[in-house]
Amino acid sequence: MVQAYLISTGTELLLGSTLDTNSIYLSKSLEELGIKVIGKSVVGDNPEAIEMAIKVGLTVADVVITTGGLGPTLDDLTKEIACQVAGVELKLIPAEERKLREYFERRHRPMPEINLKQAMFPPQASIIPNHYGTAPGMYLPLDNKVIICMPGPPRETEPMYEKYVKDMLSQAYNLSNRRVASRIIRVLGPGESQVEEMLGDIINQAKDYHLALLAQEGEISIRLIAEGNDYDDSVRIVDRVTEQIEHIMGKSVFGYDDDTLSSVVGNLLSSRGVSLAVAESCTGGLLGKMITDIPGSSRYFWGGVITYSNEAKQEILGVKSETLDKYGAVSRETALAMAKGVKGMAGTDMGVAITGIAGPDGGSREKPVGLVYIAVVGDNLEQVREMHFVGSRDAIRTLSAKSALDLLRLQLI
Ligand code: ATP
Repeated sequence: MVQAYLISTGTELLLGSTLDTNSIYLSKSLEELGIKVIGKSVVGDNPEAIEMAIKVGLTVADVVITTGGLGPTLDDLTKEIACQVAGVELKLIPAEERKLREYFERRHRPMPEINLKQAMFPPQASIIPNHYGTAPGMYLPLDNKVIICMPGPPRETEPMYEKYVKDMLSQAYNLSNRRVASRIIRVLGPGESQVEEMLGDIINQAKDYHLALLAQEGEISIRLIAEGNDYDDSVRIVDRVTEQIEHIMGKSVFGYDDDTLSSVVGNLLSSRGVSLAVAESCTGGLLGKMITDIPGSSRYFWGGVITYSNEAKQEILGVKSETLDKYGAVSRETALAMAKGVKGMAGTDMGVAITGIAGPDGGSREKPVGLVYIAVVGDNLEQVREMHFVGSRDAIRTLSAKSALDLLRLQLI
Protein backbone atom coordinates (compact mmCIF):
# COMPACT_ATOMS: atom_id res chain seq x y z
CA MET A 1 0.00 0.00 0.00
CA VAL A 2 1.24 3.50 -0.84
CA GLN A 3 2.26 5.33 2.31
CA ALA A 4 2.00 9.03 3.08
CA TYR A 5 3.49 11.33 5.69
CA LEU A 6 1.69 14.60 6.50
CA ILE A 7 3.30 17.83 7.68
CA SER A 8 1.23 20.73 8.94
CA THR A 9 3.27 23.90 9.22
CA GLY A 10 2.41 27.08 11.10
CA THR A 11 3.41 28.42 14.49
CA GLU A 12 -0.27 29.08 15.28
CA LEU A 13 -0.83 25.30 15.21
CA LEU A 14 1.80 24.83 17.91
CA LEU A 15 0.46 27.65 20.07
CA GLY A 16 -2.92 25.98 20.18
CA SER A 17 -4.73 28.95 18.63
CA THR A 18 -5.54 27.01 15.43
CA LEU A 19 -6.58 23.39 15.33
CA ASP A 20 -4.75 21.29 12.74
CA THR A 21 -7.78 20.17 10.78
CA ASN A 22 -5.88 19.80 7.49
CA SER A 23 -4.15 16.61 8.55
CA ILE A 24 -7.43 15.17 9.80
CA TYR A 25 -9.11 15.97 6.49
CA LEU A 26 -6.19 14.56 4.50
CA SER A 27 -5.91 11.39 6.61
CA LYS A 28 -9.54 10.60 5.92
CA SER A 29 -9.40 11.48 2.23
CA LEU A 30 -6.17 9.57 1.57
CA GLU A 31 -7.50 6.50 3.31
CA GLU A 32 -10.54 6.62 1.01
CA LEU A 33 -8.18 6.82 -1.95
CA GLY A 34 -6.22 3.80 -0.76
CA ILE A 35 -3.17 5.57 0.64
CA LYS A 36 -2.11 4.79 4.18
CA VAL A 37 -1.01 7.71 6.36
CA ILE A 38 1.79 6.34 8.51
CA GLY A 39 2.74 9.46 10.41
CA LYS A 40 2.43 13.19 10.69
CA SER A 41 4.22 16.20 12.14
CA VAL A 42 3.09 19.62 13.22
CA VAL A 43 5.92 22.15 12.98
CA GLY A 44 6.18 25.91 13.43
CA ASP A 45 7.36 28.39 10.81
CA ASN A 46 10.88 27.30 11.52
CA PRO A 47 13.19 26.23 8.67
CA GLU A 48 15.10 23.58 10.65
CA ALA A 49 11.92 21.94 11.94
CA ILE A 50 10.30 21.94 8.48
CA GLU A 51 13.45 20.47 6.94
CA MET A 52 13.65 17.76 9.58
CA ALA A 53 9.99 16.81 9.12
CA ILE A 54 10.35 16.60 5.31
CA LYS A 55 13.45 14.42 5.67
CA VAL A 56 11.64 12.11 8.08
CA GLY A 57 8.67 11.97 5.70
CA LEU A 58 10.87 11.08 2.72
CA THR A 59 12.59 8.37 4.76
CA VAL A 60 9.45 6.60 5.94
CA ALA A 61 6.82 7.23 3.25
CA ASP A 62 6.29 7.39 -0.52
CA VAL A 63 4.35 10.63 -0.49
CA VAL A 64 5.05 13.66 1.71
CA ILE A 65 2.26 16.22 1.87
CA THR A 66 2.74 19.61 3.51
CA THR A 67 0.10 22.24 4.19
CA GLY A 68 0.75 25.89 5.07
CA GLY A 69 3.60 28.26 4.51
CA LEU A 70 2.99 28.99 0.81
CA GLY A 71 2.09 32.64 1.41
CA PRO A 72 4.15 35.61 0.29
CA THR A 73 5.71 36.59 3.62
CA LEU A 74 9.23 35.82 4.80
CA ASP A 75 8.10 33.16 7.27
CA ASP A 76 6.29 31.24 4.48
CA LEU A 77 9.07 28.81 3.61
CA THR A 78 7.64 25.36 3.08
CA LYS A 79 7.99 25.18 -0.71
CA GLU A 80 11.52 26.63 -0.61
CA ILE A 81 12.65 24.12 2.02
CA ALA A 82 11.00 21.21 0.23
CA CYS A 83 12.95 22.13 -2.93
CA GLN A 84 16.16 22.52 -0.97
CA VAL A 85 15.74 19.05 0.60
CA ALA A 86 14.93 17.60 -2.83
CA GLY A 87 17.96 19.33 -4.35
CA VAL A 88 15.99 21.21 -7.03
CA GLU A 89 16.08 24.90 -7.91
CA LEU A 90 13.18 27.35 -7.99
CA LYS A 91 12.74 29.49 -11.11
CA LEU A 92 10.30 32.28 -11.90
CA ILE A 93 7.54 30.80 -14.08
CA PRO A 94 6.26 33.54 -16.44
CA ALA A 95 2.71 32.15 -16.73
CA GLU A 96 2.36 32.14 -12.94
CA GLU A 97 3.81 35.64 -12.68
CA ARG A 98 1.21 36.84 -15.19
CA LYS A 99 -1.63 35.28 -13.20
CA LEU A 100 -0.38 36.88 -10.02
CA ARG A 101 -0.07 40.34 -11.59
CA GLU A 102 -3.58 40.02 -13.07
CA TYR A 103 -4.92 39.03 -9.65
CA PHE A 104 -3.63 42.27 -8.15
CA GLU A 105 -4.69 44.39 -11.16
CA ARG A 106 -8.27 43.14 -10.87
CA ARG A 107 -8.27 44.35 -7.28
CA HIS A 108 -6.64 47.67 -8.18
CA ARG A 109 -3.83 47.02 -5.76
CA PRO A 110 -0.09 47.23 -6.36
CA MET A 111 1.66 43.87 -6.13
CA PRO A 112 4.46 43.79 -3.54
CA GLU A 113 7.51 42.27 -5.25
CA ILE A 114 7.82 39.75 -2.42
CA ASN A 115 4.68 38.08 -3.83
CA LEU A 116 6.72 36.92 -6.82
CA LYS A 117 7.94 33.98 -4.77
CA GLN A 118 4.49 32.49 -5.25
CA ALA A 119 5.28 32.30 -8.98
CA MET A 120 8.54 30.40 -8.45
CA PHE A 121 8.67 26.64 -8.95
CA PRO A 122 11.24 24.05 -9.99
CA PRO A 123 10.81 23.13 -13.69
CA GLN A 124 10.22 19.45 -12.85
CA ALA A 125 7.22 20.26 -10.64
CA SER A 126 3.57 20.40 -11.63
CA ILE A 127 1.92 23.59 -10.44
CA ILE A 128 -1.44 22.98 -8.76
CA PRO A 129 -3.99 25.78 -9.33
CA ASN A 130 -5.50 27.47 -6.29
CA HIS A 131 -8.98 28.79 -7.10
CA TYR A 132 -9.48 30.26 -3.64
CA GLY A 133 -6.20 32.07 -2.92
CA THR A 134 -2.99 33.37 -4.47
CA ALA A 135 -0.64 30.53 -3.52
CA PRO A 136 -0.59 27.66 -6.03
CA GLY A 137 0.35 24.23 -4.75
CA MET A 138 3.26 22.12 -5.93
CA TYR A 139 3.50 18.47 -6.98
CA LEU A 140 7.17 17.57 -7.08
CA PRO A 141 8.01 14.05 -8.29
CA LEU A 142 11.40 12.75 -7.16
CA ASP A 143 13.05 9.45 -8.09
CA ASN A 144 10.57 7.19 -6.33
CA LYS A 145 8.90 9.68 -4.01
CA VAL A 146 6.59 12.66 -4.28
CA ILE A 147 6.46 15.90 -2.30
CA ILE A 148 3.19 17.82 -2.44
CA CYS A 149 2.90 21.31 -0.96
CA MET A 150 -0.54 22.78 -0.40
CA PRO A 151 -1.69 26.07 1.16
CA GLY A 152 -2.74 26.28 4.83
CA PRO A 153 -6.29 27.67 4.89
CA PRO A 154 -8.67 24.68 4.77
CA ARG A 155 -10.96 26.51 2.32
CA GLU A 156 -8.01 26.43 -0.11
CA THR A 157 -6.50 23.05 0.84
CA GLU A 158 -9.66 20.97 0.61
CA PRO A 159 -10.83 22.04 -2.86
CA MET A 160 -7.25 21.78 -4.14
CA TYR A 161 -7.05 18.19 -2.91
CA GLU A 162 -10.47 17.27 -4.29
CA LYS A 163 -10.04 18.89 -7.71
CA TYR A 164 -6.37 18.12 -8.45
CA VAL A 165 -4.26 16.25 -5.90
CA LYS A 166 -6.58 13.26 -5.63
CA ASP A 167 -6.39 12.59 -9.38
CA MET A 168 -2.64 13.21 -9.51
CA LEU A 169 -2.05 10.61 -6.79
CA SER A 170 -4.56 8.24 -8.25
CA GLN A 171 -2.77 8.34 -11.61
CA ALA A 172 0.74 8.24 -10.18
CA TYR A 173 0.03 5.14 -8.09
CA ASN A 174 -2.63 3.56 -10.27
CA LEU A 175 -5.13 3.69 -7.44
CA SER A 176 -8.26 3.46 -9.54
CA ASN A 177 -7.37 -0.20 -9.97
CA ARG A 178 -6.98 -0.77 -6.28
CA ARG A 179 -8.25 -3.90 -4.66
CA VAL A 180 -9.06 -2.79 -1.15
CA ALA A 181 -12.66 -2.15 0.00
CA SER A 182 -13.67 -0.86 3.39
CA ARG A 183 -16.67 0.05 5.53
CA ILE A 184 -17.19 1.57 8.95
CA ILE A 185 -19.94 -0.08 10.97
CA ARG A 186 -21.26 2.24 13.68
CA VAL A 187 -22.48 0.85 16.99
CA LEU A 188 -24.04 2.44 20.07
CA GLY A 189 -24.77 0.64 23.31
CA PRO A 190 -22.09 -1.87 24.20
CA GLY A 191 -18.64 -0.70 25.29
CA GLU A 192 -15.43 -1.30 23.36
CA SER A 193 -14.30 -4.42 25.22
CA GLN A 194 -17.80 -5.84 25.05
CA VAL A 195 -17.86 -5.35 21.28
CA GLU A 196 -14.44 -6.97 21.05
CA GLU A 197 -15.67 -9.96 23.05
CA MET A 198 -18.87 -10.26 21.01
CA LEU A 199 -16.89 -10.19 17.76
CA GLY A 200 -14.29 -12.64 19.10
CA ASP A 201 -14.55 -15.23 16.31
CA ILE A 202 -14.84 -12.66 13.55
CA ILE A 203 -11.70 -10.93 14.80
CA ASN A 204 -9.77 -14.17 15.38
CA GLN A 205 -10.71 -15.72 12.05
CA ALA A 206 -9.78 -12.62 10.05
CA LYS A 207 -7.66 -13.65 7.05
CA ASP A 208 -8.64 -11.70 3.99
CA TYR A 209 -9.95 -8.77 6.06
CA HIS A 210 -8.93 -6.68 9.02
CA LEU A 211 -11.04 -5.17 11.82
CA ALA A 212 -10.14 -2.16 13.96
CA LEU A 213 -12.29 -0.78 16.78
CA LEU A 214 -12.42 2.88 17.72
CA ALA A 215 -14.38 4.16 20.72
CA GLN A 216 -15.45 7.79 20.67
CA GLU A 217 -18.08 9.61 22.72
CA GLY A 218 -19.97 6.45 23.54
CA GLU A 219 -19.97 5.19 19.98
CA ILE A 220 -17.88 2.31 18.68
CA SER A 221 -16.73 2.41 15.08
CA ILE A 222 -15.80 -0.95 13.63
CA ARG A 223 -13.56 -0.33 10.64
CA LEU A 224 -13.58 -3.26 8.26
CA ILE A 225 -10.96 -3.43 5.52
CA ALA A 226 -10.82 -6.30 3.04
CA GLU A 227 -8.29 -7.21 0.40
CA GLY A 228 -9.55 -9.85 -1.99
CA ASN A 229 -8.41 -10.90 -5.46
CA ASP A 230 -9.88 -7.76 -6.99
CA TYR A 231 -12.12 -4.87 -5.91
CA ASP A 232 -15.38 -6.76 -6.44
CA ASP A 233 -14.06 -9.66 -4.42
CA SER A 234 -13.08 -7.22 -1.63
CA VAL A 235 -16.59 -5.73 -1.66
CA ARG A 236 -18.04 -9.26 -1.37
CA ILE A 237 -15.87 -9.91 1.68
CA VAL A 238 -16.91 -6.60 3.24
CA ASP A 239 -20.60 -7.41 2.66
CA ARG A 240 -20.20 -10.90 4.09
CA VAL A 241 -18.41 -9.76 7.26
CA THR A 242 -20.82 -6.82 7.68
CA GLU A 243 -23.72 -9.27 7.70
CA GLN A 244 -21.99 -11.42 10.32
CA ILE A 245 -21.37 -8.36 12.49
CA GLU A 246 -25.00 -7.19 12.10
CA HIS A 247 -26.18 -10.64 13.12
CA ILE A 248 -24.13 -10.51 16.34
CA MET A 249 -24.60 -6.84 17.24
CA GLY A 250 -28.29 -6.63 16.27
CA LYS A 251 -30.03 -3.31 16.80
CA SER A 252 -26.99 -1.66 18.31
CA VAL A 253 -25.67 -1.18 14.77
CA PHE A 254 -27.08 2.25 13.94
CA GLY A 255 -25.28 3.15 10.73
CA TYR A 256 -22.40 2.88 8.27
CA ASP A 257 -19.55 5.06 6.99
CA ASP A 258 -20.57 8.76 7.23
CA ASP A 259 -23.85 8.11 9.05
CA THR A 260 -24.35 9.87 12.38
CA LEU A 261 -27.04 9.17 14.96
CA SER A 262 -28.69 12.47 13.99
CA SER A 263 -28.68 11.66 10.27
CA VAL A 264 -30.05 8.17 10.88
CA VAL A 265 -32.81 9.46 13.18
CA GLY A 266 -33.53 12.29 10.74
CA ASN A 267 -33.97 9.84 7.86
CA LEU A 268 -36.27 7.66 9.95
CA LEU A 269 -38.44 10.61 11.06
CA SER A 270 -38.55 11.98 7.56
CA SER A 271 -39.37 8.71 5.80
CA ARG A 272 -42.07 7.85 8.33
CA GLY A 273 -43.53 11.38 8.30
CA VAL A 274 -43.15 11.71 12.09
CA SER A 275 -42.73 15.13 13.73
CA LEU A 276 -40.71 15.69 16.88
CA ALA A 277 -40.30 18.19 19.71
CA VAL A 278 -37.78 17.97 22.56
CA ALA A 279 -37.52 19.24 26.13
CA GLU A 280 -34.07 19.41 27.63
CA SER A 281 -32.77 20.07 31.10
CA CYS A 282 -29.17 18.98 31.76
CA THR A 283 -28.20 18.94 28.07
CA GLY A 284 -29.08 22.64 27.68
CA GLY A 285 -30.01 22.42 24.02
CA LEU A 286 -27.41 19.91 22.87
CA LEU A 287 -30.02 17.45 21.64
CA GLY A 288 -31.68 20.18 19.57
CA LYS A 289 -28.28 21.15 18.22
CA MET A 290 -27.52 17.57 17.17
CA ILE A 291 -30.91 17.20 15.47
CA THR A 292 -30.51 20.50 13.60
CA ASP A 293 -26.96 19.59 12.51
CA ILE A 294 -28.78 17.81 9.68
CA PRO A 295 -29.79 20.08 6.79
CA GLY A 296 -33.51 19.81 6.12
CA SER A 297 -34.34 18.89 9.74
CA SER A 298 -37.15 21.47 9.69
CA ARG A 299 -39.18 18.83 7.82
CA TYR A 300 -39.57 16.82 11.01
CA PHE A 301 -38.26 18.94 13.91
CA TRP A 302 -40.70 21.39 15.52
CA GLY A 303 -38.04 22.64 17.93
CA GLY A 304 -37.18 22.30 21.56
CA VAL A 305 -37.31 24.02 24.92
CA ILE A 306 -34.62 24.20 27.55
CA THR A 307 -36.36 23.88 30.90
CA TYR A 308 -33.50 24.02 33.35
CA SER A 309 -35.27 25.24 36.48
CA ASN A 310 -38.26 23.64 38.16
CA GLU A 311 -40.25 26.81 37.36
CA ALA A 312 -39.54 26.42 33.66
CA LYS A 313 -40.56 22.76 33.78
CA GLN A 314 -43.84 23.77 35.43
CA GLU A 315 -44.64 26.94 33.54
CA ILE A 316 -43.60 25.92 30.04
CA LEU A 317 -44.22 22.18 30.07
CA GLY A 318 -46.91 21.93 32.71
CA VAL A 319 -44.99 19.50 34.90
CA LYS A 320 -46.98 19.34 38.16
CA SER A 321 -45.38 20.68 41.32
CA GLU A 322 -46.48 17.48 43.10
CA THR A 323 -44.46 15.42 40.59
CA LEU A 324 -41.39 17.57 41.20
CA ASP A 325 -41.87 17.52 45.00
CA LYS A 326 -42.57 13.82 45.24
CA TYR A 327 -40.07 12.40 42.75
CA GLY A 328 -37.61 15.25 42.14
CA ALA A 329 -36.56 17.04 38.96
CA VAL A 330 -34.30 14.12 38.02
CA SER A 331 -36.73 11.24 37.94
CA ARG A 332 -38.54 8.89 35.65
CA GLU A 333 -41.85 10.70 36.36
CA THR A 334 -40.51 14.18 35.61
CA ALA A 335 -38.85 13.02 32.39
CA LEU A 336 -42.13 11.52 31.25
CA ALA A 337 -44.11 14.63 32.20
CA MET A 338 -41.62 16.81 30.32
CA ALA A 339 -41.88 14.68 27.17
CA LYS A 340 -45.69 14.67 27.31
CA GLY A 341 -45.68 18.41 28.01
CA VAL A 342 -43.57 19.32 25.02
CA LYS A 343 -45.42 16.94 22.71
CA GLY A 344 -48.76 18.46 23.80
CA MET A 345 -47.50 22.03 23.49
CA ALA A 346 -45.99 21.48 20.04
CA GLY A 347 -48.71 19.18 18.73
CA THR A 348 -46.08 16.81 17.32
CA ASP A 349 -46.24 13.04 16.86
CA MET A 350 -43.42 12.43 19.31
CA GLY A 351 -41.83 14.17 22.29
CA VAL A 352 -38.46 13.46 23.86
CA ALA A 353 -37.16 14.74 27.19
CA ILE A 354 -33.89 14.59 29.07
CA THR A 355 -33.35 15.33 32.75
CA GLY A 356 -30.28 14.38 34.71
CA ILE A 357 -27.32 15.38 36.83
CA ALA A 358 -24.36 16.39 34.65
CA GLY A 359 -22.12 17.32 37.60
CA PRO A 360 -19.53 17.87 38.77
CA ASP A 361 -21.68 18.98 41.77
CA GLY A 362 -25.27 18.30 42.64
CA GLY A 363 -25.12 14.54 43.06
CA SER A 364 -26.27 12.61 46.12
CA ARG A 365 -26.18 8.98 47.25
CA GLU A 366 -29.56 8.20 45.75
CA LYS A 367 -29.07 10.42 42.74
CA PRO A 368 -25.38 10.46 41.80
CA VAL A 369 -23.74 12.56 39.10
CA GLY A 370 -24.35 10.84 35.77
CA LEU A 371 -27.90 9.69 36.57
CA VAL A 372 -30.01 10.68 33.57
CA TYR A 373 -33.60 9.91 32.61
CA ILE A 374 -34.64 10.01 28.98
CA ALA A 375 -38.29 9.80 28.00
CA VAL A 376 -39.81 9.21 24.59
CA VAL A 377 -43.55 9.55 24.07
CA GLY A 378 -45.77 9.06 21.06
CA ASP A 379 -49.50 8.68 20.58
CA ASN A 380 -49.44 5.12 21.91
CA LEU A 381 -46.03 5.08 23.42
CA GLU A 382 -44.40 5.95 26.73
CA GLN A 383 -40.88 4.88 27.42
CA VAL A 384 -38.32 6.04 29.96
CA ARG A 385 -34.70 4.96 30.07
CA GLU A 386 -32.58 5.32 33.19
CA MET A 387 -28.89 5.81 32.40
CA HIS A 388 -25.81 5.92 34.62
CA PHE A 389 -23.06 7.76 32.82
CA VAL A 390 -19.52 8.30 34.08
CA GLY A 391 -17.28 11.15 33.00
CA SER A 392 -16.95 14.91 32.84
CA ARG A 393 -19.90 17.28 32.62
CA ASP A 394 -19.32 17.54 28.88
CA ALA A 395 -19.14 13.77 28.42
CA ILE A 396 -22.33 13.18 30.45
CA ARG A 397 -24.21 15.79 28.41
CA THR A 398 -23.01 14.37 25.09
CA LEU A 399 -23.83 10.80 26.09
CA SER A 400 -27.27 11.90 27.30
CA ALA A 401 -28.14 13.59 24.01
CA LYS A 402 -26.84 10.64 21.98
CA SER A 403 -28.69 8.21 24.15
CA ALA A 404 -31.92 10.16 23.57
CA LEU A 405 -31.36 9.96 19.81
CA ASP A 406 -30.73 6.26 20.14
CA LEU A 407 -33.89 5.65 22.14
CA LEU A 408 -35.81 7.51 19.48
CA ARG A 409 -34.11 5.45 16.75
CA LEU A 410 -35.04 2.20 18.46
CA GLN A 411 -38.67 3.31 18.59
CA LEU A 412 -38.67 4.24 14.92
CA ILE A 413 -37.07 1.13 13.41
P1 ATP B 1 -1.78 31.97 2.45
O1 ATP B 1 -1.62 31.88 0.99
O2 ATP B 1 -3.20 32.29 2.86
O3 ATP B 1 -0.76 32.81 3.15
P2 ATP B 1 -0.34 29.72 3.55
O4 ATP B 1 -0.12 28.51 2.74
O5 ATP B 1 0.82 30.60 3.79
O6 ATP B 1 -1.58 30.47 2.95
P3 ATP B 1 -0.51 29.72 6.36
O7 ATP B 1 -0.15 31.16 6.37
O8 ATP B 1 0.46 28.74 6.88
O9 ATP B 1 -0.93 29.27 4.91
O10 ATP B 1 -1.89 29.54 7.09
C1 ATP B 1 -2.96 30.41 6.84
C2 ATP B 1 -4.12 30.11 7.76
O11 ATP B 1 -4.64 28.83 7.41
C3 ATP B 1 -3.74 29.94 9.22
O12 ATP B 1 -3.77 31.13 9.94
C4 ATP B 1 -4.80 29.01 9.72
O13 ATP B 1 -5.94 29.73 10.06
C5 ATP B 1 -5.09 28.14 8.55
N1 ATP B 1 -4.34 26.87 8.66
C6 ATP B 1 -3.05 26.66 8.36
N2 ATP B 1 -2.69 25.38 8.56
C7 ATP B 1 -3.80 24.76 9.01
C8 ATP B 1 -4.09 23.42 9.40
N3 ATP B 1 -3.16 22.46 9.37
N4 ATP B 1 -5.34 23.13 9.80
C9 ATP B 1 -6.27 24.11 9.83
N5 ATP B 1 -6.08 25.38 9.48
C10 ATP B 1 -4.86 25.70 9.08
